[in-house]
Amino acid sequence: MSTTITEECINCGACEPECPNEAISEGEDIYVIDPNLCTECVGFHDYEACQAVCPVECCVPDPNNREEQPTLLARAIKIHPATAFPDVLPANLTRFSNPNRQKAAGE
Ligand code: SF4
Ligand code: SF4
Repeated sequence: MSTTITEECINCGACEPECPNEAISEGEDIYVIDPNLCTECVGFHDYEACQAVCPVECCVPDPNNREEQPTLLARAIKIHPATAFPDVLPANLTRFSNPNRQKAAGE
């Protein structure tokens, strides 16, 4: 599922350059994530890069935008047509299929 930024955001900007998909931008009040570009970092990291650097850990899964790994990988391929992604990714890479992912990433 797409990651979203909550109102706890302190507008530090640390997450923006970390996103492999340039999905994060400065919004009117807080930083925002474009769900059409967020892949939960599938294809690049086995953790959410935004959440990993966020000082207040306010980059969280959007329960209203649940997507499975094939959808997220397909999006990554579409956004990065010149990048060679592995044919097979480890199973349960996403928070949708593995709610413990955040814990496993050591966050
Ligand atoms: S989870 Fe990854 S792809 Fe999604 S906004 Fe955060 S850094 Fe970008
Ligand atoms: S790193 Fe966290 S607090 Fe900083 S801009 Fe991004 S979401 Fe907001």
